[in-house]
Amino acid sequence: MTTIYRGTVLHSLAPDRFELRPDAELVVDDQGTILELRDASEGPTEGETQGSVDRRGRLIVPGLVDAHFHIPQIDVIGIASRQLIDWLREHIFAAEIANADPVIARDRARRSFQGLLASGTTAVAAFSSRHTEATHIAFEEAERAGIRALIGKVLMDREAPDALIEPAETALADTRSLIEHWHGRAEGRLAVAVTPRFGITCSDALLLGAGQLAEEFGVPIQTHLSENKGEIARIAELFPDAKDYTEVYERAGLIGERTILAHCIHLDGCEIDRLAAAGACAVYCPDSNFFLHSGRFPLLESRKRGLDVALGSDIGAGTSWSLLEAMKMGNYMQVEPVDPALLLFLGTLGGARALGWEDRIGNFLPGKAADLVVLEVEEILSGRSIESTAPAELLSMLIHRGHRARVEEVYVAGKRLR
Ligand SMILES: [Zn+2]
Repeated sequence: MTTIYRGTVLHSLAPDRFELRPDAELVVDDQGTILELRDASEGPTEGETQGSVDRRGRLIVPGLVDAHFHIPQIDVIGIASRQLIDWLREHIFAAEIANADPVIARDRARRSFQGLLASGTTAVAAFSSRHTEATHIAFEEAERAGIRALIGKVLMDREAPDALIEPAETALADTRSLIEHWHGRAEGRLAVAVTPRFGITCSDALLLGAGQLAEEFGVPIQTHLSENKGEIARIAELFPDAKDYTEVYERAGLIGERTILAHCIHLDGCEIDRLAAAGACAVYCPDSNFFLHSGRFPLLESRKRGLDVALGSDIGAGTSWSLLEAMKMGNYMQVEPVDPALLLFLGTLGGARALGWEDRIGNFLPGKAADLVVLEVEEILSGRSIESTAPAELLSMLIHRGHRARVEEVYVAGKRLR
């Protein structure tokens, strides 16, 4: 049996192109796969048996994709401090040490995935802590929540409190066991990412081992790159023979098509070109960049040079769970105005590409999974009707007043999760 979701449908087709259908039907099969997106006036095809989810007057958008999130940081969101390195030392490392307690780890993981779904996020790339048990727990909770999640145990073997570092061999062996247990589980909704925190906390041996492990299993890699000037200076001290920060990862085999790089703020043109050529993806985390005074991500230059970009909340340096808010901040953090179509792309299709799931999610093309969010947008539209609002205006209002949109229902592969 098919299910028809009827409402005003908005989705991204490309970085510069979106589609708004005022009265549309999304036809979904019993496996949760999209068969067709059509105007309601086109009516049912012959012999179609259907269940109906009639949401006329509501906006239906693809599940949002958060390409950078830290599970153990959800209880320290918004605690202002100095810049990155001091903030890590003063607030974050203590919070991550507490993740050694499985009760705390489970509670945080559960609240993370529920909080993301409540914000309309149906897929996330998340850092756990360095704790293997906490990471297993995170996968269990992601599976239970029904969300799509790419999760990694954070690799660190230096320059952090003793409780957060471990020998490279242990870190890599445990990551291997996580991959063997979880990668591709839950009908492919779960993925393990090899997750070195960043160059400062990883020896050459750990980075190299991480690159080899990702290569061996063909799994994604997520890490941080070039977020903060103090960080970059420390990288230069720790890796004196690397010509730049990007090379620290390149020579370990960590830069490729499956690499997700949070921030990428202070790269030079040559680094951006190399990342683009390798097919890596940068994650723009505007709220976090603003909060930690890290700098301004060169969004338009990066895109012009061919670098793929996605969007991240970067909870807990970001202060909002909502990718709609990240889209708004993504505009505000730039000097030049950003096309709303690009912002929508970054938070949906661009994120799907970053996570390696572009063939499955990100928009409503036939063959993709019915990951969708039903939004009540009455307040955003200030008295206009949704059907009569011009597409470009509606998208802009959604992005800039997204905090007033109400997430009413959330589906992953046609299964209602909220
Ligand atoms: Zn981060």
